[in-house]
Amino acid sequence: MSDTITGVPLLDLQAQYRPLRADILAAMERVCDSQRFIMGPEVTGLEHEMASMLGVRHAVAVSSGTDALLLALMALDIKAGDEVVTPTYSFFATAGAVARLGATPVLVDVDEATFNMDPAKLAAAITPKTRAIIPVHLFGQSAEMEEILNVASGIPVVEDAAQAIGASYKSQPVGGLGAFGCFSFFPSKNLGAFGDAGLVTTNDERLAKKARLLRTHGMEPRYYHHLVGANFRMDALQAAILRVKAPHLAGWTASRRANADRYRTLFQDAGLTDRVRMPVAAPDRHHIYNQFVIRVADRDGLKKHLDAAGIGNEIYYPVPFHLQPCFAYLGHRAGDFPNAERAAQDSLAIPIYSELTLSQQETVVNAVAAFVHRRVAV
Ligand SMILES: *Cc1c(COP(=O)(O)O)cnc(C)c1O
Repeated sequence: MSDTITGVPLLDLQAQYRPLRADILAAMERVCDSQRFIMGPEVTGLEHEMASMLGVRHAVAVSSGTDALLLALMALDIKAGDEVVTPTYSFFATAGAVARLGATPVLVDVDEATFNMDPAKLAAAITPKTRAIIPVHLFGQSAEMEEILNVASGIPVVEDAAQAIGASYKSQPVGGLGAFGCFSFFPSKNLGAFGDAGLVTTNDERLAKKARLLRTHGMEPRYYHHLVGANFRMDALQAAILRVKAPHLAGWTASRRANADRYRTLFQDAGLTDRVRMPVAAPDRHHIYNQFVIRVADRDGLKKHLDAAGIGNEIYYPVPFHLQPCFAYLGHRAGDFPNAERAAQDSLAIPIYSELTLSQQETVVNAVAAFVHRRVAV
């Protein structure tokens, strides 16, 4: 039948890979022929290209976004007894990295509109033990960095920019706004590797040196150890692949932003915007839409409906940190952070990837419309 519903995936990595296949395979072949698999010239090359792309002095390639956070915190000497403030609503690694070092994650609620750390709540969470602050640029939109840096007044700020490569705040790219920026090249991020990889950025020469040292067991020269670090090294294969993909990032981001505008128009035209809330994009920030997150009253019902229609969707995130079993020791309870709890209940990410077509977006919006109108009719 001609009106058979064809699904839309949440992310289609094949569509991005297809036109780059020959270049990527050539880059992989180059690494295979060199038989140099860890660090080396591909990784150094990527670091230079990333530093210039992100407008930072130093870029340190690492093994994952999680390790980027861990390494940044280690370079700041975060340890047991220290407090590090993070939003309660993010991917687990943001608070996990703090806890892994024996420090205490001090959680704060997010802004109701942007899902990002609320600077006023941050101010109330700072104590004499606060050693770092980790704002997250969630879904690809920068946190309120000016207010956060003001409130921090000298306490190091580590940007969790894992979802925000290429985003900017008041025309300044994220990653160079605080002491450190932490990026992830997990395959579903806007710039994805073919496995795990990440990046730490800083404008501080001393911190850059320390991060580089900690990345390889604090070793310099070989087998002489100044600090207890870890293995946070990046694979040459990942660096070579990322170097092929990086020049395309600006174009991919432009497509994601165009898709976001198109959704806003389509939802508006379908008369849905009073019942389906669009993401709030602050005018002073360049949102890169790693995710396009809508908000609806009966989110779980909509999710079931989209699942049945083959429309990719995901809940980012169903449980804020303060309600996670592993953080029960922090002593929080339901109701402590109402904005995050509401977001966990009513938000849903829909497909936004660069290669998404107009007709796929119409399919998504029609599926949402069918659900919303059915509910009204009941
Ligand atoms: C993806 C992500 C991370 C972790 O990155 P990995 O590369 O998966 O380790 C950290 N923080 C946020 C907000 C993320 O989205």
